[in-house]
Amino acid sequence: MVSEHASRLLKISARRSGSKMIITNDTERGDLIEGGKRLAAVLAALRARVAPGVTTEELDTLAEQLIREGGDTPCFLGYTPEGARRPYPATLCVSINDEVVHGIPNESSQTLKEGDIVGLDLGLTHNGIVVDAAITVSVGKVGDETKKLLRATEAALAAGIAAAVPGKHVGDISHAIQNEIEDAGFKVIKELGGHGVGELVHEEPFIPNFGRPGEGELLEEGMVLALEPISSAGKAAVVLAPDGYTFRTKDGSRSAHFEHTILLEKGGATIVTI
Ligand code: MG
Repeated sequence: MVSEHASRLLKISARRSGSKMIITNDTERGDLIEGGKRLAAVLAALRARVAPGVTTEELDTLAEQLIREGGDTPCFLGYTPEGARRPYPATLCVSINDEVVHGIPNESSQTLKEGDIVGLDLGLTHNGIVVDAAITVSVGKVGDETKKLLRATEAALAAGIAAAVPGKHVGDISHAIQNEIEDAGFKVIKELGGHGVGELVHEEPFIPNFGRPGEGELLEEGMVLALEPISSAGKAAVVLAPDGYTFRTKDGSRSAHFEHTILLEKGGATIVTI
């Protein structure tokens, strides 16, 4: 999700939806968990398909097919985020190397090459509940620095999840993510971050990937959050492509992205998209 600050920099408007899902009963909880399990299975199938020579469009087609076979709905397809000029035209976001997030797979289909990294970001709606997750996958063999970038960003997601405890604050999550990425020598991309999810793709609160412990909104039991650390191996600045969706690093550095939907429960977070 794009921060309000980034929206100003990028000259797109952003309004906050104001909605926020709170899980209050076992039926909703069951649907959320089942949706997450299904999304994780689709992402696993996409990961297995990633190889040199595969096109981004093939991955998008497979994602849509698998979601619909399960009786669910792709929730990015046709969705217009606040500030966007047009609906998103694909099921999957596919972002290669210096593409940070929201690469469009079926408009300018690209072929994966040995040594690339590819971010796969996907959401589905199951029984009315939206879940959202992302992985960054190596295409064949990648270099040590790239491996380190992927490891650090995935570790940042785990650290954010560990900090997502009712009674703590959004800033505790943000701080944990930032520490993990910066301690590994990488940069946090500040314009993008996590968000509430559940009724809609993007809900309150926005969850920056940097911040101070104890600051920001109070974390409450029943909240459904999508945490998504997004890192750069070089500088942190990003640019938005003319397609209105694809973010790239300004200096061409590689970027990694991992995301889980989580449910805040007594004592800590339950990972939904697993
Ligand atoms: Mg998300």
